[in-house]
Amino acid sequence: MKNLLEKLFPICRSITGNGVRKSLDIIKEYTKTDLNIIEIPSGKKVYDWEIPKEWNINTAWVKDSNGNKIIDFDLNNLHLVSYSIPIDDYMSLDELKKHIHTIPDKPDWIPYRTSYYNEDWGFCISHKHLEELEVFDGVSNSGEYHVYIDSTLEQGNLSYGELFLPGKSNEEILLSTYICHPSMANDNLSGPVLLSELAKNLAKEDLHYSYRFLFIPETIGAIAWLSENENKLNNIVGGLVATCIGDSGVIQYKRSRQIYSMIDNIVERVLKDTAAIEEYDIKDFEPLGSDERQFCSPGINLPIGCLTRTPYGEFEEYHTSADNLDFVTEYNLQASFDILKEIIYYLEYNKTYINVNPKCEPNLGRRGLYDLIGAGDRNKSIPLYKWILNYSDGKNSLIDISNKCDIKFEHILEAAKDLEMKDLIK
Ligand code: ZN
Repeated sequence: MKNLLEKLFPICRSITGNGVRKSLDIIKEYTKTDLNIIEIPSGKKVYDWEIPKEWNINTAWVKDSNGNKIIDFDLNNLHLVSYSIPIDDYMSLDELKKHIHTIPDKPDWIPYRTSYYNEDWGFCISHKHLEELEVFDGVSNSGEYHVYIDSTLEQGNLSYGELFLPGKSNEEILLSTYICHPSMANDNLSGPVLLSELAKNLAKEDLHYSYRFLFIPETIGAIAWLSENENKLNNIVGGLVATCIGDSGVIQYKRSRQIYSMIDNIVERVLKDTAAIEEYDIKDFEPLGSDERQFCSPGINLPIGCLTRTPYGEFEEYHTSADNLDFVTEYNLQASFDILKEIIYYLEYNKTYINVNPKCEPNLGRRGLYDLIGAGDRNKSIPLYKWILNYSDGKNSLIDISNKCDIKFEHILEAAKDLEMKDLIK
């Protein structure tokens, strides 16, 4: 995963353009799957929005009057405001400063800024860098700066990646992440890297559910996909948005808008069962955050939650050059992946049974499920049998029962196997 992260990191991505296509090509190669790269033309209406013009960038810089590059996109793609329109002009530092963004509180970091829906241009530099420019202005140069942005903003396409892995069931799990940020590791490459690894793994498995992976530009990509795929929504029984998931913060799960849907109950169970290894936090849905805002909008209302470590905006490196390759560690990516893999395992093994003797408790002793002599190992399972038998009414799944009695899913699963072997549940 770290290798994939390092490969994707230098690419200048935005909500459209060749950076997205190049990233999708790399993901396709990594996952060894038939990831579909889909293009939606600029101007197309998607619900209340319109697909924007396609933006591509060749180079951008500012030179002082001696011809020295004092800001250079080629050194760090965060230096340019994403979606900057082309410009080739000369101006004073005062004029230029109207288009320069810094973070005074974090003087060494370069901010990340965008101007998707307002045709403008700008540069982002560290605050220290700006102070240096102010010191040297009029000293080592005549005060005129050459501003050059070689970009295009024209009719084109919005590109996204979609991978469908069919299972035995038509019921689908939707796993979505976004691929629209330039060189930042946690927000946003940790999500695509994690889902790429999962796709690569699941592509080799025999699956119960069908799995649909989306690698889309944030917001506009989710809106576009939903608008174009309403006919697929009925099959979606659960899903996750994965974002900001490679830092060292605790795992956080934000429930879907439905709050106690299957996926919400499964993730809660996984996090409780792995709590000895991983701390966690569970929050109710709120309409802030990433693409769960679209997936859980009231007219869509899919059972899709959001899995993160430190959520967007809550880590100080967020949307700055400090969200770099050191900020995301192999260890944390792997630990997040282990949780995600466990969620899939729980999904795949969860079942809903019916108690075939629902009138009073069945006689367990007669079936060898009750150690009549006393406290043998077998008797540890008796409370589990009682929970499973009582709630196996066709409405509560094993995960629901596991959450009700707060006992690890693996123990419930084993006890259910015993009961099924003795034809007490089906
Ligand atoms: Zn972001």
